[in-house]
Amino acid sequence: DKPRVKKPDWLRVKLPIGKEYKHVRGLVDQHKLHTICESGNCPNMGECWGAGTATFMILGNICTRSCGFCAVATGRPEAVDWDEPQRVAEAISLMKVKHAVITSVDRDELKDGGSIIWHNTIKAVKSLNPTTTLETLIPDFKADRENIQRVIDAAPEVISHNIETVERLTRQVRIQAKYRRSLETLRILKEGGARTKSGIMLGLGETKEEIVETLKDLAGVAVDVVTIGQYLQPTSKHLPVARFVHPDEFAEYREIGYELGFDYVESGPLVRSSYHSERHVDKGYGR
Ligand code: SF4
Ligand code: SF4
Repeated sequence: DKPRVKKPDWLRVKLPIGKEYKHVRGLVDQHKLHTICESGNCPNMGECWGAGTATFMILGNICTRSCGFCAVATGRPEAVDWDEPQRVAEAISLMKVKHAVITSVDRDELKDGGSIIWHNTIKAVKSLNPTTTLETLIPDFKADRENIQRVIDAAPEVISHNIETVERLTRQVRIQAKYRRSLETLRILKEGGARTKSGIMLGLGETKEEIVETLKDLAGVAVDVVTIGQYLQPTSKHLPVARFVHPDEFAEYREIGYELGFDYVESGPLVRSSYHSERHVDKGYGR
């Protein structure tokens, strides 16, 4: 075994405890829901759950893909659960959240890619919680226009799709995905009038130049919001961390991002795609 790179101080965070955390935990369990916060062992659970925010994962907790950074299980997913949209809507209502993030596993085995459940979930949440804003972090839907349009039609405030890494590393990091196809998905979303968002993880072996190229590619399809964070290895079976990027370097990418014209750039070691998501809804919150 190779010795693991030691985590620097700026990545040490408090453990998730407290009353609000327990409340969110209870609601998530009661409604038989899944969260990416737990599946991904996210270091921000104390902060986010303590503030009543969680990222719900719909369409089950088994993914048809097997990205090298992701802690979600791969395999044959269970049958589509048509009551799930209503349960998500009810949990959001009980949690009284003003802003929610919803994501899903990839369901490549379904003809609609899961887009009907996506549509129904957004509609159910909106109908039970008319003032709640939503970020929906969607799969690439293999850049299928009809499936993507179903999500756009349900009109969430933000539609995100993560490019995750630079072009050269995509095969290694997201084995069944394609860099250009993700850009195409983001382009279709923008064409449909959505406020779009994408995220990159650093520390997988990419160079500075490649990071800037990726930011340029995202600017090229008119993405509005970009998140840049440190990759953390969820278990020893996942891709190793190649390096821990210093906070100052993250700050440089934030500057470059604003120069490239993004409306909001969130860049720092603990940034996850859903971190501070409530700030990404309105235009002009960035700089
Ligand atoms: Fe969950 Fe996202 Fe917060 Fe992490 S940053 S705890 S995944 S909402
Ligand atoms: Fe994880 Fe998404 Fe990749 Fe599935 S497609 S393995 S949920 S990152």
